Amino acid sequence: MQVLGAKELLEDVFQKDLCIGCGACVDLCPYFINYMGKTSQLFPCDLSQGRCYAYCPKAEVNLDELSNQIWGVAYDGSPLGNYQKVLAARAGKKMKGGSYQSGGTVSALVTFALLNHLIRAAALTDRQGLNPIPRLVKSADEVITCATSKFMASPTLAAINAAVREGYTGLGVVGTPCQLIAVTQMRANPVDKEDFVDPVALTVGLFCNWSLDTRQLMTLLSEKLDISTIRSMDIPPPPANIMVLETDAGKLELPLSEIKPLIPHTCFICPDMTSEYADVSVGMFEGRPGWNTLIVRSQKGAELVAQASDEGFLQIENLPEKNLKRLTRAAADKKQGALRTLQQRELLNNKEGQRSAVRIPPEVVDKILKEK
Ligand SMILES: Cc1cc2nc3c(=O)[nH]c(=O)nc-3n(C[C@H](O)[C@H](O)[C@H](O)COP(=O)(O)OP(=O)(O)OC[C@H]3O[C@@H](n4cnc5c(N)ncnc54)[C@H](O)[C@@H]3O)c2cc1C
Ligand code: SF4
Ligand code: SF4
Repeated sequence: MQVLGAKELLEDVFQKDLCIGCGACVDLCPYFINYMGKTSQLFPCDLSQGRCYAYCPKAEVNLDELSNQIWGVAYDGSPLGNYQKVLAARAGKKMKGGSYQSGGTVSALVTFALLNHLIRAAALTDRQGLNPIPRLVKSADEVITCATSKFMASPTLAAINAAVREGYTGLGVVGTPCQLIAVTQMRANPVDKEDFVDPVALTVGLFCNWSLDTRQLMTLLSEKLDISTIRSMDIPPPPANIMVLETDAGKLELPLSEIKPLIPHTCFICPDMTSEYADVSVGMFEGRPGWNTLIVRSQKGAELVAQASDEGFLQIENLPEKNLKRLTRAAADKKQGALRTLQQRELLNNKEGQRSAVRIPPEVVDKILKEK
């Protein structure tokens, strides 16, 4: 992993408009802050190596190193990454119910992990008005307050940095694929701290094709409704092609063509749709509302899913083959599109002193681009 400093982070990420506002560089030092989805530097820093650069999921990310670190195998570019099985899932009877995004699988797993002391606290995403905000949740009862998706880039990972400063270990984290890449880099102790302890005990990744710019979305929605009355948002699977907003006054449907211009450009260089470095990954279940698709990846993830299901916190079923095929195709399409954009923007595998956003072994790049 190439570890540089804040000066290079500005050059490689901010000046190229690649920051997604994940929060990995926020609350590490007094210099970086996030306000309404945008991360910025308050004062210059001249350290030649910093955790800000090392953690960032948009600067010198080496997918082969990440794969070896987490799975002990080389990165092979397979569409869904490393996994044991893919299931259909939803929250079980032991969950008290509430408003989930789809099946509540994420909330159920985090609740179960907290109740059984598998984690001490979890970095989740709450919202203040429409603005997504990081929240360190310490008790199972609080998990539901962060349920539902905020379809905007969120500085969630600042909660991990703040928790580590308070001495926390044994943290759970729920995040998008870019956030899970940052978390994987955090766990590698990239600046060789002598007293380093891996602060993370459980990673729950979300599926993500794109997110929206918080401030631009607020501006767009403010022209149409009182945004303080928004209760939840949903982007149903294709072919719906709409965003649905639930407000105190009822439902509002917006065509995706109106909101897609608000996708940050950095989402188009993102090669991971399913959070490939998580213990488990969760997304929607196309064609079955109220359920999730659940990818079980690590042994820890498999044990968590088995225990949560045995004890009634999770309901699991087999995922129909046609859904797995569709998911695999969608993830492969995202990878191919991202690699083409990375190549066009000269952000992939640069040589001779030129830095890159992403590094992937060249033979794997060829394989991904040829995949039909
Ligand atoms: C930006 C974004 C894009 C997504 N795109 C897709 C997609 O293309 N296809 C797909 O199948 N699924 C997508 N999802 C995932 C999907 O919306 C659900 O989060 C997932 O299916 C889990 O549902 P659930 O009922 O188990 O979640 P719940 O039990 O309701 O829990 C939701 C969890 O998501 C976390 N969360 C909410 N907003 C954010 C955020 N902005 N950043 C990080 N964490 C957050 C909360 O902390 C909470 O723990 C996306 C989610 C986000 C946030
Ligand atoms: S770590 Fe996250 S918030 Fe910080 S510069 Fe990188 S993408 Fe932006
Ligand atoms: S598309 Fe990638 S970069 Fe954009 S929010 Fe999703 S995971 Fe992050």
